Amino acid sequence: MSPRPGLGPKPNLGYTNSRIERAAELRLDAAVVDRLAHDPHAAAYIIGGESIVMKKGAPINEALFTLAEAHALAPAVETIFLGLFDGAPRFGHGLTPQAAEPLKTRDGLHVTDLRSVAVQGLVAPEHLPPIAEAKAVLHWHARHRFCPNCGAPTQIVQSGWRRDCPQCKAEHFPRTDPVVIMLASDGDQCLLGRSPRFVPTMWSCLAGFIEPGESIEDAVHRETKEEAGITCGRVTYFASQPWPFPTSLMIGCHAQALTRNIVVDREELEDARWFSKDEVVSMLMRNHPQGLTTPPPVAIAHHLIRAWVEDEIRFD
Ligand SMILES: [Zn+2]
Repeated sequence: MSPRPGLGPKPNLGYTNSRIERAAELRLDAAVVDRLAHDPHAAAYIIGGESIVMKKGAPINEALFTLAEAHALAPAVETIFLGLFDGAPRFGHGLTPQAAEPLKTRDGLHVTDLRSVAVQGLVAPEHLPPIAEAKAVLHWHARHRFCPNCGAPTQIVQSGWRRDCPQCKAEHFPRTDPVVIMLASDGDQCLLGRSPRFVPTMWSCLAGFIEPGESIEDAVHRETKEEAGITCGRVTYFASQPWPFPTSLMIGCHAQALTRNIVVDREELEDARWFSKDEVVSMLMRNHPQGLTTPPPVAIAHHLIRAWVEDEIRFD
């Protein structure tokens, strides 16, 4: 067996290992949350749709604002209590995308999308999980202003963790949408695909939403068959990752490929093919002869691919 390639220490998986204590019991009492909002250590992340608002800084930006600063920049459509960070209350200050737009040209602010924030390391890493939490919940609110049961306007309750319908009394909870993302492999070869949305050099794991009534394993089998025509056998769970684009939970798996003949679903993928372990190593190390790459470490695909390259996963 060839020696393991020297890929260096394992990078962090983006948006995971949150240091926020969600303190769900505090959400129930509006007076308690109001007191927390006036705590001298209270601070908020400002989010307007896809836009994350930061204070410009060097070498990295500051993600947190006092609640007074946030309100002065633009009043919130919704304010969410995210929890406690080392005891300090943290909030999500939600703007409409239209309200965030003029902040892009404001002196002292840096406003950009969360992918850029994460990939370029524009804020300290401990801010990524609470920003993901705030962005996902605020997106859910923006899409649930009316009751799906009776159509009446709903009201935010429990500091942002529920919406109630005053007419039919239905209670609506923020949801997250499970997605399987899998690396299928056969010995020393693995299956990677390219979405037309990717940068031209990037290849990644296949992925798809879990459908109602479907297990993780069944979704891995179905998606791999639908997108690339490959039949899989064993499926092993690897790790998961919140993916707030807008409200997904990525469930990372390795799968044993049982067939070799690829049939690409051109509606979903631009291409899919087998890659040798050596070729994938060069992609991870950014020295592939044609400049092909894997996704960056912020994404779980990077970690699925790396674990396979480093022989942590074998089906034979
Ligand atoms: Zn209703």
